[in-house]
Amino acid sequence: MSIAKNLKDVVGRVADAAAKAGRDSNGITLIAVSKTWPVSVIQEAADAGQRVFGENKVQEVLKKVPAMAPELKWHLIGHLQKNKTRKVLPLCAMIHSVDSLALAQQIDRIAGELALTPEILLQVNVAADDAKFGLAASEVENIVNEVSQLEQVKLRGLMTVPAFDPYPEKVRPHFAALRELRERVAAATGVELPELSMGMSHDFHVAIEEGATLVRVGSSIFGQRDYSQR
Ligand SMILES: *Cc1c(COP(=O)(O)O)cnc(C)c1O
Repeated sequence: MSIAKNLKDVVGRVADAAAKAGRDSNGITLIAVSKTWPVSVIQEAADAGQRVFGENKVQEVLKKVPAMAPELKWHLIGHLQKNKTRKVLPLCAMIHSVDSLALAQQIDRIAGELALTPEILLQVNVAADDAKFGLAASEVENIVNEVSQLEQVKLRGLMTVPAFDPYPEKVRPHFAALRELRERVAAATGVELPELSMGMSHDFHVAIEEGATLVRVGSSIFGQRDYSQR
């Protein structure tokens, strides 16, 4: 199995989904989710032209990012504990998983000390799933009002991680809910929220039809993960 071939296939499927939805595929960024994979494997994707990578654990970010070419971009897509913010900020261009006002404020303060202007997304638990991180949809408007006043962080939009469902159509309502929430909150606050981070290997085509601008794709590019090797 070749990562270059998988990547080409996924890029083609992103373009097909965009075309089907009448969207310009330039408005969709493919994030190659490289969690659990070593630098040698990630390098194959970089060699094949992939530039944006996603990791969900700070430990992996600290290990991999400094070992790879500086022109690659890294997004943190997993839960961020406050005490790890200082380490991760210099290495990640975007943090998808901001799930409290306190965390946004802390990122802002530390970014100020480090003279950084990180892009962030607010993670929303649109399905109100007890097992998932994220803000309740009802909290988002107030938090957008607060976060948009911060000096350093650039609030770019919303992100969601619905529970896995083998039938992508079952997940569609959650993607649609995130888009509708974005429209409602942007209208109410006057804050533009251009990015929607949603969709993974098995359902990114549906997410693109519902407006995703950032899709997070791991196993379709790198193969099945082996968590026992971590
Ligand atoms: C692992 C992960 C992905 C990618 O999942 P695949 O099913 O392998 O594409 C996307 N988003 C988040 C938040 C993840 O943790």
